[in-house]
Amino acid sequence: MIQVAVNGYGTIGKRVADAVRAQPDMEVLGVAKTRPNFEAQSALDRGYSLYAAIEDRADQFADAGMEIAGPVTDLVEAADVVVDATPSGIGAENKAMYDEYDTPALYQGGEDADVADVSFNARSNFEDAVDADHVRVVSCNTTGLSRVIAPLQEAYGIEKVRATLVRRGGDPGQTSRGPINDILPNPVTIPSHHGPDVNTIFPDVDIDTLGMKVPATLMHVHSLNVTLESAADAADVRDLFADEDRLFLVPESLDIDGAGKLKEYAHDVGRPRGDLWENCIWEESISTEGRDLYLFQAIHQESDVVPENVDAIRAVTGAADAAESIETTNDAMDIGR
Ligand code: NAD
Repeated sequence: MIQVAVNGYGTIGKRVADAVRAQPDMEVLGVAKTRPNFEAQSALDRGYSLYAAIEDRADQFADAGMEIAGPVTDLVEAADVVVDATPSGIGAENKAMYDEYDTPALYQGGEDADVADVSFNARSNFEDAVDADHVRVVSCNTTGLSRVIAPLQEAYGIEKVRATLVRRGGDPGQTSRGPINDILPNPVTIPSHHGPDVNTIFPDVDIDTLGMKVPATLMHVHSLNVTLESAADAADVRDLFADEDRLFLVPESLDIDGAGKLKEYAHDVGRPRGDLWENCIWEESISTEGRDLYLFQAIHQESDVVPENVDAIRAVTGAADAAESIETTNDAMDIGR
């Protein structure tokens, strides 16, 4: 069993912990938090050992009636791999600790690419992360773009990707984020950082991205135009995508007109936390005009990177190859079903 530590038990960390627990070949050794709050309490309620990310603050947990198993350094030392899901920039600060205990570490997309030896998307470059010590699982948006680019590149070749990303202002729990009543070009400069981030996975793909921010918390929505190297038929592209477990083709028959109904659907089918681990591509939107492909997809920012973290754990520990890992992860989480 691969012993996994999760440092930073927030939006991403708590989901990664549950996904790891669901795997047949992994165990959650413990999770670390900086302070006692509802997430720390729910970690204990779920049976995870709780470690203090900042040793001086261990008393705060005791005062709140939460039992601490030890300092985060004990957790990192004992683990086979640590998933760092701390806020952007903190992962880089934690890197020295992971090196000190010689524990391979996964970082999240909020970190700069140079924090790690390799940026990771399971479908696109699993092999690059095998036995690496520091791996960055790319952001929710880069994950969503990579999952579409990989099969298109293999089937048709790609001349150019153009994507406009309509981004949620904040996650549902991020009460301090906005905009509340505005539509922002964000970043206002072009390209947005997403295109260069995709190039950490696909160095040779020509891609321009534009970002916007809107008053929503549910999901991001991408408007995508891919100029392929050879002409494609929309029906063939739909068949290509239907073979990919991490792409969900939203059928016209479900009458899902946006992110709200997608999230409602996820709750209705019993998905934990209403998570949508797959890209949600509106099937009717897949259109071709010669070599130009167009589509709309929604990306659940809180959860699409979760299965990618699970696969990255197997890559850095050398526990499985890409196909085996992706299949095991998908089976354990019911992805693509
Ligand atoms: P979050 O704020 O929800 O969770 C971070 C957790 O880390 C919190 O529980 C916080 O208390 C804890 N923490 C803070 N400092 C710490 C420290 N020094 N040691 C240990 N724990 C610490 O953040 P998040 O949304 O889960 O984001 C985590 C990372 O994942 C970021 O790099 C982010 O860019 C990336 N990411 C976020 C999303 C998203 O939409 N939420 C999507 C993909 C990737």
